Amino acid sequence: MTARRPGTTLAAVSRPGDVRLFPPHGTPTVVIVGGGFGGIACGVKLLKAGIETFTIFEKSPGPGGTWWDNRYPGAEVDVASHLYSYSFLSYDWSRTHVRQAELQRYMEDVVDRFGLRPHFRFSTAVSDAVWDDERHRYMVHLEGGEEVPADVVVSALGLLNHPRYPDWPGLEDFAGPKFHTFRWEHEHDLTGRRVAVVGTGSTAAQVVPAIAPVVGRLLVFQREPGWVTPKGDRDYTPEERAAFARPLARRIERTRQFVRLERMQFRGAIHRPGSTVNTRIEAVCRSYITGALKDRPDLVEAVTPRYPFPGKRPVLSSDYYNALKRDNVELVPKAVTRVTPTGVVDADGVEHPADVLVMATGFQPTNFLATLEVVGRGGRTIHEVWDGEPRAFLGITVHGFPNFYMLYGPNTNGGEIVHHLERQAEYVVRAVRRMMRERVTAVEVRAGAVDTYNRWLERRFAGTAWPVSNNYYKSPSGRIVTQWPDGALLYALGTKTLGRVSETTRRAPARDPEAPTAGRRDGAAPGAARPLAAPDRA
Ligand SMILES: Cc1cc2nc3c(=O)[nH]c(=O)nc-3n(C[C@H](O)[C@H](O)[C@H](O)COP(=O)(O)OP(=O)(O)OC[C@H]3O[C@@H](n4cnc5c(N)ncnc54)[C@H](O)[C@@H]3O)c2cc1C
Repeated sequence: MTARRPGTTLAAVSRPGDVRLFPPHGTPTVVIVGGGFGGIACGVKLLKAGIETFTIFEKSPGPGGTWWDNRYPGAEVDVASHLYSYSFLSYDWSRTHVRQAELQRYMEDVVDRFGLRPHFRFSTAVSDAVWDDERHRYMVHLEGGEEVPADVVVSALGLLNHPRYPDWPGLEDFAGPKFHTFRWEHEHDLTGRRVAVVGTGSTAAQVVPAIAPVVGRLLVFQREPGWVTPKGDRDYTPEERAAFARPLARRIERTRQFVRLERMQFRGAIHRPGSTVNTRIEAVCRSYITGALKDRPDLVEAVTPRYPFPGKRPVLSSDYYNALKRDNVELVPKAVTRVTPTGVVDADGVEHPADVLVMATGFQPTNFLATLEVVGRGGRTIHEVWDGEPRAFLGITVHGFPNFYMLYGPNTNGGEIVHHLERQAEYVVRAVRRMMRERVTAVEVRAGAVDTYNRWLERRFAGTAWPVSNNYYKSPSGRIVTQWPDGALLYALGTKTLGRVSETTRRAPARDPEAPTAGRRDGAAPGAARPLAAPDRA
């Protein structure tokens, strides 16, 4: 692998603030929770801004998030590799859509090239963060019992990180191996075995073609079909690799992919049945079904969705339908209702014998902050405030929770995820720099900004295929809480321009260096715990 060397000399951009407000370095201490694409982006952007007082707490033993956890056979990205990577580190990818192992190597490489590793604390889960409205800082609690003070807390927990385990009766009694794709158990040899894969979303569409040639018999349980578009993934040729050795060529390819996607996402056209692009893509999907499965009318009937495109997350695959046609593969177009020690029972009551049970049952994306509780001003938790309806300004900030930021928060899913994550990380950095520049200790979004923004979102969902389809985007009340309804450019514009105008700022009396009774000589609040100085302690 060759990669462009990061050009920034980090020390050269350091801008310390008021050390009495932010002792001992003059920069706020930042706790980032989660070390996937989001947490790493935030760390790099903080370093580029000269802010080194941060720690990334990651519950896994290594960085990478999604690509650390999901190691199932066939795991690979759906978005073109040159787009699904950071703007600050292009790469000499081996494929149009790279596989998990290569993405994992990329993440490790980013961590090392930008000097992030000393900022990481691996195998360390954060359980909650409690705001102190006198001192204007959070007390962050780790699962082991340790407490860490932080001026700013950034949640980078991801959207698809909390698996959905089914509650089928009898599941516990299944005699053979059973596991979720999020934790694939590679120690089981599937050769010649009867394997049941439950679910037909993006993950199953990768697993099925990967294991079908190996297993004896493969049962694929489908509750409702997804729209499938051909992916066209392939290895790059040596000539293409040689061309992409030049960073400029990679940048051009990235821009080409961005523009291609942006044209479909612009004003949410792709999500709106009846728009030119939506109609065209649905027609492509339909002809892909009839073309790929022309000799199997039973499969054509079973895999054709009865809801408008895209409805739920579309599946990108060029080999899933072919795998379904194999002699040893059977698509069971039924939900699973229970499990016996030796098989899986479908909604018609038919038992299908199986030796291995693979749960490709996805995640809990609407369960935002599933592993992290945040207590804000007035002692209310963020989940109490949301009351089952997660909402935030630009998906990043929540009224009542000063200095708390979410990456991949409510209504930010879709399209160019890594692009979104970078914009959110920049939003955090701008707020932190504002604290230093304006010598304030709390930055908080106004309630009115959150409300106005969410009313705008509601209007944007009208006319999309999402409200009328079954998908994982909705809260129990039916509100779309995961999706961003437009293109990446509009999101970037919002994050670049709306932060400052939507915020209020305050300075903690207990930390005010101008107040006669404030603090100790070093400016730390009385009784304040030792501030986090990430680089030398992590
Ligand atoms: C199988 C799969 C395939 C995907 N394919 C694509 C794709 O093709 N294209 C695309 O755009 N997106 C895809 N995604 C979405 C993908 O999650 C995002 O693209 C991106 O990786 C999100 O990065 P993240 O850092 O926000 O979250 P994640 O990568 O999920 O990272 C979150 C991290 O937070 C950690 N964490 C969680 N709770 C805590 C806690 N309490 N304390 C400490 N650490 C914690 C987790 O261990 C994890 O490492 C896919 C997701 C999955 C699951």
